[in-house]
Amino acid sequence: MTRTAPTLLAPTLAALVLASSAHAQFTYLAPGDLTPGSGSGRFDERVYAPGMAFPIRDAPAYANSQVWGHGGGSGPGGSQCDEENFSYPWRDNYCESRSWDMPLCPTGNGHQGQDIRASSCMAGVHPAIAVVDGRITNIGSYSVYLTAADGTRYDYLHMSGVRVSVGDSVSRGDILGMVDNEFGGTPTTVHLHFNIRQTVADVGTVYVPTYMSLVRAYETLVGGSVPPPPTPPPPPSSGPRLRAEYVNQTFPLSEDTFSLPGGAEQYGYIELRNTGSETWRPGVTFLATTEPRDGASPIAGPDWISPSRAATIDREVAPGATGRFAFTVRSPDVPGDYPQFFGPFHEGIGWFGDDGGPPDRWIEVRVTATPALPVDDDADRDGSPADRDCDDTNPALHPGASDTCGDGIDQDCSGADAPCDTPPPAPDASVTPPAPPPTPPPGASTRPLDDDSGCSCRAAGARTGAHSTHAALASLVLAAVLLARRVRRRGATRRSGSA
Ligand SMILES: [Zn+2]
Repeated sequence: MTRTAPTLLAPTLAALVLASSAHAQFTYLAPGDLTPGSGSGRFDERVYAPGMAFPIRDAPAYANSQVWGHGGGSGPGGSQCDEENFSYPWRDNYCESRSWDMPLCPTGNGHQGQDIRASSCMAGVHPAIAVVDGRITNIGSYSVYLTAADGTRYDYLHMSGVRVSVGDSVSRGDILGMVDNEFGGTPTTVHLHFNIRQTVADVGTVYVPTYMSLVRAYETLVGGSVPPPPTPPPPPSSGPRLRAEYVNQTFPLSEDTFSLPGGAEQYGYIELRNTGSETWRPGVTFLATTEPRDGASPIAGPDWISPSRAATIDREVAPGATGRFAFTVRSPDVPGDYPQFFGPFHEGIGWFGDDGGPPDRWIEVRVTATPALPVDDDADRDGSPADRDCDDTNPALHPGASDTCGDGIDQDCSGADAPCDTPPPAPDASVTPPAPPPTPPPGASTRPLDDDSGCSCRAAGARTGAHSTHAALASLVLAAVLLARRVRRRGATRRSGSA
């Protein structure tokens, strides 16, 4: 065993440290909150080894970085016996900068476990114990592996006075050796390096985060004191300002057929989640065409801001929240396949595709234009040919349609809106929920209503989450969407008529 000079000072310091911290309240920083400059940690509150004992027999003990602490190679100077190394709060050092292959670390490399100091920097006097019942499966020049019945392996590094052998069965609490600075030659600082190795679904058998398992075990050791929950580390300031994640779209997905007769229009929306640090704002954050960027789109509808900007975001969207770009697609007059890519753009900053994404070829609406319906015929397919239909672009208006009295709209093409016998309803009355649809017979599918990609039924249903009222709410939303479209079309007709 290699003794270091600080060991000689230890008794005095140990007494000092014990006196000052014996009654100190245990506190700890959040998992993944590493010493600044020591690497990227993993914020992971999962306790991978619930119920294990704390690996150092006696409290207090201090989890923190050896390399970045006082007396460490990248530390602020001073001695490893510095009082600051033997004080709360604890600090995670799983994933600290190392070259080890570590699939669960943000960079894929890092420190495999947690470094823990005992109550003092004195070597060879603080017992390290078995954290579970198990068997000793390997002993190296400075390591002891304890494997539990469930296959989880617990590694103890840098001990002296190892008193177990490979093959020994040990019980939880048995002393395995003493906390020391063994490192197969040149000594390290006096500490216990502790790993937990486990099989993780979809990852493999890896070194898992040890920190929260140690926190829970230590709370048990010091008498169940429950500190306030750690606060998550602040969002990394190095993250992208502009980043979006696809959530949903009501337009058919690009791999599905989306056929529209030439000249026909379909209203819909694309929803994205803000995973960057910049808040999105109406009039500032747009959905624009890509491939090429800002190219005039052949499928631009009448409500587009310009031929290359489909829509602006519908509300202020803080990081973490979801917003919607709503617009109408117009099918080109020339039959053919019209793929159109889109990308979000933030005025004054730039394209999301140049920052955190998504890339330009990610969001797509692909329209297949079929031959336009003959205008003389029945363009809106409401059963009334153009020469008898008062509006052959709107299937809601045709002779024989039921005319809502007092709404200012001549649905039945009688030449005027139907008068009301009773006072006209309040403006909101036109969106009064319709009666719930009749209960379908057993086995009947309600899929068309749920899956109708042309309205916002699905999103509205998902938001409410109330399945029993889903159908009625969907009908209400559908009615509102139809109303909005009707109003828009009338507006467009008026504009073109007065031009
Ligand atoms: Zn270590």
